[in-house]
Amino acid sequence: MAYKLLIDGQLTEGAATLDVIDPATGRVFETCARADEAQLDAAVAAAKAAFPIWAARPHAERRACLEKLADAMEARQEEFCNLLTREQGKPTPQAQFEIGGSIAALRYFGAQELPLEMIRETAAEKILEQRTPLGVIAAITPWNFPVILLMLKLAPALAIGNTMVAKPAPSTPLTTALLGELAADILPPGVLNIIIDANDLGAALTNHADVDKVSFTGSTATGKRVMASAAGTLKRLTLELGGNDAAIILDDADVKAVARPVFDAAMINAGQVCLAVKRVYAPRAMMDDLCAEFARLGAAAVVDDGLNQGAQVGPLQNRQQYEKVLELIDDAKMQGTVVVGGERLGREGYFIAPTVIRDLPEDARLVREEQFGPVFPVLAYDSLDEVIDRANDSEFGLGGTIWTSNPERGLEVAMRIQSGTVWVNKHLDMPFDIPFGGAKQSGIGREQGLDGMKEFTQAKIINVARLPLPA
Ligand code: NAD
Repeated sequence: MAYKLLIDGQLTEGAATLDVIDPATGRVFETCARADEAQLDAAVAAAKAAFPIWAARPHAERRACLEKLADAMEARQEEFCNLLTREQGKPTPQAQFEIGGSIAALRYFGAQELPLEMIRETAAEKILEQRTPLGVIAAITPWNFPVILLMLKLAPALAIGNTMVAKPAPSTPLTTALLGELAADILPPGVLNIIIDANDLGAALTNHADVDKVSFTGSTATGKRVMASAAGTLKRLTLELGGNDAAIILDDADVKAVARPVFDAAMINAGQVCLAVKRVYAPRAMMDDLCAEFARLGAAAVVDDGLNQGAQVGPLQNRQQYEKVLELIDDAKMQGTVVVGGERLGREGYFIAPTVIRDLPEDARLVREEQFGPVFPVLAYDSLDEVIDRANDSEFGLGGTIWTSNPERGLEVAMRIQSGTVWVNKHLDMPFDIPFGGAKQSGIGREQGLDGMKEFTQAKIINVARLPLPA
């Protein structure tokens, strides 16, 4: 079998196998190893045994290993991109962006250190903060960005001296397995272990006594289960969860200038982005012009197999998500007006035409729930206070965007949005040194930046009296 588990430095056949479906055809195109609980235990044991040795190595050595892994990925970049498009569905340019970003993340975070920090130094005392690695990190990832979302955990966690058991989503395991194949030759045994399941080993991993932290990216519903299951040993947690991000178009915005970036911010990766635009709010007087632009853009978008040149919107990643999005569209069609799309494509695979729906009530499912697909509602508003209230009236609080001809006014509005990130006149700009994470039920903790690095460490205060003890 080509795609194996990685346990204690060994590429390992699974206790069973797992079929992987190409979402552009709906048919199985590859088979990979699938672990059982004994293999999961072996992976955690290997990570635990490797931890003290890896943590004790100088940072420069760990960094050199991560650099080598980045070089190895770079050498097989095209293979990664093709495999990512095959298993995930995204068009090739988006796969290239994800793989390129993952290699860059390895290099960037591999170089980061958290040196001893002097908090206070006087003649009488010295108080410092030391950051020590936590131990075994369980990294659990979803199927929308299988490589970069793993890399944002792996690179900082390993750079700082932790070891890892990574578990990809069962519908996109192959790129993670390919990474494991490279890591087997580069990283010391046990530093990175890869377990592939069929959605059945998550709980065993998150409540495992020898796992010290769970770094989870996925849905809010699963995030809550992870939090409950980590409670037994008070594991550290980072939860990057779902969102229902509002794009607010201000009344000073130029319709023609904003329609394209807002549309793209909703349709990237066929809308399967935690931080995608999921609700658009526009001044009532702008609705007709804006919807006319969205109709034009939706009709012109090239929906196709991601491997085909020119494809802009690929298929939904899996049948379950495809059916969920179609159900949301059907529900919305009964209450609103279809601006464009509204149908599955008449071909094999999980394709849905880019869809925009207007005139929905605020309690429609498409407005309240995270759709995670190539469809969004456009909702009219009458005053700024009202639209800010409506944008904030959500259990989610991941991101959001403000579109305006006046960036200063955009900043004022952004400051009133309850979310982890708000962009003004741009979207999905996520430099590695800038932390991100969710407010409310969109998550706990941060990834990226110094804040994200620190989440893979334990803070320890060392408080030293500098004066001799009285005799
Ligand atoms: P999901 O929650 O169904 O699955 C995510 C991962 O959790 C998978 O690897 C899955 O196998 C695993 N899992 C399933 N049950 C588990 C359990 N009981 N314990 C531990 N792990 C378990 O999510 P998904 O459908 O794969 O991904 C889509 C969701 O992810 C969306 O809600 C999206 O917004 C969110 N997401 C968030 C971010 C972010 O950074 N905030 C990024 C990407 C995706």
